[in-house]
Amino acid sequence: MDYFGTLIRYDELALKGRNRILFERQLISNIRSKSFSDLKVERLWGRILLEGQQGIPSVRLDQVFGIASYSPVMKVKADLSQIQETALKLLRDYLHSKKEKGSTFRIDVRRVDKDFSPNSLEIQKRIAGDILAHFPELKVDLRRPSIEIGVEIRKEGAFLYLERNPGLRGLPVGSSAKVLSLLSGGIDSPVASWLMMQRGAPVDFIHFYAYPYVGIQSKEKVIDLAKHLGHYQNSSVLFVVSVTEIQEEIQKKCNDRFRTILLRRFMHRIAAEVAIRCKAKALVTGESLGQVASQTIENIEAIQSVTPALILRPLIGFNKQKTIDLAKDIGTYDISIRPFDDCCALFQPKAPATKAKIALILREEEKLPVSFLVGEALKTIETIRL
Ligand code: ATP
Ligand code: MG
Repeated sequence: MDYFGTLIRYDELALKGRNRILFERQLISNIRSKSFSDLKVERLWGRILLEGQQGIPSVRLDQVFGIASYSPVMKVKADLSQIQETALKLLRDYLHSKKEKGSTFRIDVRRVDKDFSPNSLEIQKRIAGDILAHFPELKVDLRRPSIEIGVEIRKEGAFLYLERNPGLRGLPVGSSAKVLSLLSGGIDSPVASWLMMQRGAPVDFIHFYAYPYVGIQSKEKVIDLAKHLGHYQNSSVLFVVSVTEIQEEIQKKCNDRFRTILLRRFMHRIAAEVAIRCKAKALVTGESLGQVASQTIENIEAIQSVTPALILRPLIGFNKQKTIDLAKDIGTYDISIRPFDDCCALFQPKAPATKAKIALILREEEKLPVSFLVGEALKTIETIRL
């Protein structure tokens, strides 16, 4: 069937005025930058139209945030007899390709151009009457039809469609400031990063790596995660920082119980510095309250207190199962469960402090040359563009 193009609907109805224009521009630019070919894009009120044969856009619209749904559409003149004719043609082709008999249908009319006459109900009746006359085996079902024919009538023309593909919703990446996400190889931090993209924030990644205590595979795993997440924002930048020296120092000089917290405090100091360098306005972690020993309120506070940077924790109130389900939908789960430990897992003490007193932490930390170690770690940064 020769479709005319793809009609893209976006939601976030609250967006008004200037915000709406910025939102639309960002969305269009994101769609364009994901396309292999030159796309002809038209802005309609509340919609974006991608022109192209077959209605198959050369863009993965299911990876673009800010889209509520999208449909391959046929466009005709806003003229009732042409609309009726096209509805019949769409349905005929569909029934032919599906070899379906005895289905139910409904016509869904949206009259954006209120000057168009007759009204929506009358248009529905006429199209349905036409269809029933040509396909007597079909029945109307307004509640749960197996086929829905959508008609949208605008000044620019009438658009007809059968499919309505769900989009990712949210806001287009780039409509918010950039953030820097602490990406481990686990299940949680990729989901946290994705949720930030969903709210419009471009995400750079930082990973802390303790070679040779962990193998090269654990770094490759994080690269694959960042690469996969990059589909949702076009590309990704991953900073890999060595914490080998820091781990060795902590292990040598500090009480076991505080290892994880001490290492996390280093990670946050380093991440805050990298955020300034890459112009990210906040840090993001995959922490979820109470999930593991290091994620009590007391420990989160002790980790956070090393930096005034804003730290966002999109998963703080999530159950693990919810995060796992989301990771599967996003496509990061299978990468995350590859069996390569990250540095923290290997470094974990047998009895970690769960409600670490800040005074005790500071006493342990005093044994370490903190600024020197942070400076040395910053020298090891490897920037990987994916
Ligand atoms: P995840 O599944 O994201 O690894 P987790 O439930 O295993 O999280 P922790 O290991 O306590 O939790 O880590 C808490 C957060 O700290 C992670 O979500 C991540 O944001 C950050 N983090 C932990 N280890 C690293 C690392 N090696 N590199 C970068 N960030 C890390
Ligand atoms: Mg982890």
